[in-house]
Amino acid sequence: MVSEIELYEMVIRKMQDYSSIILGITDISYSDYFNKYKCALILAVPHKEIISINSYSEEKFEEIILTAREQTNAIISDLSNLFERYDIKYYVPPVAQTNEEQLIAPFSFKYAAVNAGIGWIGKNDILITKEYGPRVRLSAILVNYNLPIGKPVTESMCDDKCVLCIEACPYKALRGIQWDINKHREELIDYQLCNYKRSLYFKKHNRKHSCGLCMAACPLGEKNNL
Ligand code: SF4
Ligand code: SF4
Repeated sequence: MVSEIELYEMVIRKMQDYSSIILGITDISYSDYFNKYKCALILAVPHKEIISINSYSEEKFEEIILTAREQTNAIISDLSNLFERYDIKYYVPPVAQTNEEQLIAPFSFKYAAVNAGIGWIGKNDILITKEYGPRVRLSAILVNYNLPIGKPVTESMCDDKCVLCIEACPYKALRGIQWDINKHREELIDYQLCNYKRSLYFKKHNRKHSCGLCMAACPLGEKNNL
């Protein structure tokens, strides 16, 4: 059986193939999966193209998200193959929210990323990394090993005066509240309103509107050219 340190070294070696991706590790004692797994690897895959409020179009934004999703799937599949080779128990939690009312995924990637020390939650209710701002796609893979965990982020690093994301929202769904670890999602965003407005596009696009204006408006990570 592979030891914890061996697994950790294997993961770090594998991540060298994906040098632009941020890796964080968190314990999951707070989650429903704690009975079966001990910690989560959290991956933040940067968008291949930087979209700003001036270059924004919904089609372009959707394309960038799809590309990031493909890249995320590739690395998850790579790590899964590695774990299977060494008979390591793992689980990839789904991205999608299972409940359209509460809009909560079974395993929150955002909360796990904050716990892993990858970033904080912006006033736009999106995970913000120092490296790429909000322009990342998050994913997670749970393993039944105790690996070295990151230091949780507990305070926002958004400028107190910054309101760019709030002003970018056409529906005023963002409340302009500075996040800290004790804040709940509904204090930052009217997520029902955001979801409702984006869902109105089902007929037209056969999917929700990607929107992302509050991401495109964020100056953090805008200059980080990949
Ligand atoms: S995704 Fe769009 S609708 Fe939702 S909060 Fe951001 S800007 Fe507003
Ligand atoms: S636009 Fe400003 S307030 Fe909003 S997430 Fe980015 S830095 Fe934070």
